[in-house]
Amino acid sequence: MRLYNTLTRHVEDFLPSDGHTVRMYACGPTVYDVAHIGNLRTFLFGDLLVRGLRHLGFEVHNVMNLTDVDDKTIAGAAKRGLSLRDYTDEYIALFHEDLAALRLQPAWRYTRATDYVPQMLALVQILLDRGHAYVRDGSVYFDISTFGRYGVLSGVAPEESAETAYSRLEADEYSREDVRDFALWKASAPGEPSWDSPWGPGRPGWHIECSAMSIAELGNTLDLHVGGVDLIFPHHENEIAQSEAATGEPFVRFWVHVEHLLVDNQKMSKSLGNFYTLRDLIARGFEPMAVRHHLMTAHYRRQINFTLDGLAQSTAAVFRLWDFMDRLADLAAPGDAAAFVLEEIASADGAFRTALSEDMNLPEAVAAVYGLAHAINPALARGELNAGDSAAIVAFLSRADEVLGFLAHDRGSADEDVDHLIAERNDARANKDYARADAIRTELSVRGIVLEDSAQGTRWRRAFE
Ligand code: AMP
Ligand code: ZN
Repeated sequence: MRLYNTLTRHVEDFLPSDGHTVRMYACGPTVYDVAHIGNLRTFLFGDLLVRGLRHLGFEVHNVMNLTDVDDKTIAGAAKRGLSLRDYTDEYIALFHEDLAALRLQPAWRYTRATDYVPQMLALVQILLDRGHAYVRDGSVYFDISTFGRYGVLSGVAPEESAETAYSRLEADEYSREDVRDFALWKASAPGEPSWDSPWGPGRPGWHIECSAMSIAELGNTLDLHVGGVDLIFPHHENEIAQSEAATGEPFVRFWVHVEHLLVDNQKMSKSLGNFYTLRDLIARGFEPMAVRHHLMTAHYRRQINFTLDGLAQSTAAVFRLWDFMDRLADLAAPGDAAAFVLEEIASADGAFRTALSEDMNLPEAVAAVYGLAHAINPALARGELNAGDSAAIVAFLSRADEVLGFLAHDRGSADEDVDHLIAERNDARANKDYARADAIRTELSVRGIVLEDSAQGTRWRRAFE
C-alpha cells in the first residue's frame, strides 16, 4: 500500500510498524447535531481505507472518537434542559444510524471523550511537569515555544509564544495567521458541566481529547491518523505537540487528510448553512448506496462539488451495476466459466488491487468494476453466458464489494419503488393534483428515472443508460 503522507508531503510505502496490525485513529464527530454528508465523506474514506487495508491482507485496529464535550454540546444540552450525557447519547445514536445506512463497518472501538477524563488529566499533568504547559486562572495552556517541532505538519511558524497569546482566546479552532498557545484544560463557567482537577473544576480542551484517547487505546505511536484537511491546523498540529512533548516518541507515522465536499465551490458546513444530511437525501428518494458511490467519485485528495445532478448520475450508475448483477444471477445454464470471462476477471482484479494500493484510488477501483461489466455485457445480452460464468463474475464482485460496499442489494426493491411512485403519480393526475404529480416526476428524475407518457400509459427507463 502506498499512501500520501501529509507529514512528508510524499506518497510513501506504508506498512504497519509491527508488519501486521495497523493502528489507526480517525477524528470523529462532535455529537451536537446530525452529521452532514461532508463529514460523512471523511468518515466514509476512513471506512474505505480500513477495508482497503484488510483487502490487501492487514489487520486493522481503528479507533474513532466521539467528542461529547465542547461549547456546542454544552450549549445544546442546556437549551433542551438535558444532561450532557443524555443529550449526546441521542446524537451518538443518530450518528450510528447514518453510518449503518451508508454501510460503514463499525470501528474497532468508539471512544467517548468524557469516558477518558482521567487519562486527559494525567497527560496535562505530565506536560506541566515537563515544563511544556502553564496554569492561568484555573485553565492550563500548552506553551508552543517549548516545542521545537511546532508547525511540522501544517508549516505554520510559531511566532507567538507563551504569556503573550494565552489570554486572548480559548477557542479550539483558529486560523493559520493566528498561531497561539492553546488550552489543554479549561476552567468551567458556573453551572457548566465540569470535572475536578488540581487546577479547579473544568473540562478538557478538544485537542487533548484525541491525544489521550489514541494513546490510551493504541499506544504512543500510531501507524495512521485520518481526518479532514481542515483539521491539519490547528487540531492535528496541536495533537502532535502535546503527544510528543509528553511521550518523547513520534506520535503518528502517516497522516492522511481527506479533501472537502463542496457546495457551489464552498466547503459544505453547518455554519454556512449549505449542507445536506443523509436523512435529507433519503427523504428526497435517494438510495443511501448512491450517496456512498457519489462520495467516492473523486480521489480522496480532491474536492468533490456536490450537486443533486451528480447524485442522480451515481444513482444511475449503481442501479446499472445492480441490474448487471441481477441478470448474472438469472443465468441457469450449466457449464464452466469461459476463458475470456476468466481473463476479464483477472484483469479487473489486477486493476482493482493496483488502484487500491496506489494511494487508495477509488475512482480507478470503481472503474475496474465498470470495465468488467462493459466487457461482459455484450455476451450477456447475446445469451452466451452460463452459470459458471456467472459464479466467477459474482465471486469477483463480492470480493470487490468488501471494499466498495455499494454492490450488495435487495433484488427488485428499487424497481418496485419506482412502480409504486408512478402509480401514485397516476392517481394524483386523475385527481387533478398536478402539483403532487409534478413533484413525483421531479423526485424520479433526480434519481435518474425518465418517464415516458403515452396513450398506452406511463413507461420508465433509466437516464444515462
Ligand atoms: P466535526 O464534527 O466538525 O469535527 O467534523 C467531523 C469530520 O468531518 C472532520 O474530520 C472534518 O474534517 C470533516 N469535515 C467537515 N466538513 C467537511 C466537508 N465539507 N467535507 C469533508 N469533510 C468535512
Ligand atoms: Zn481529533
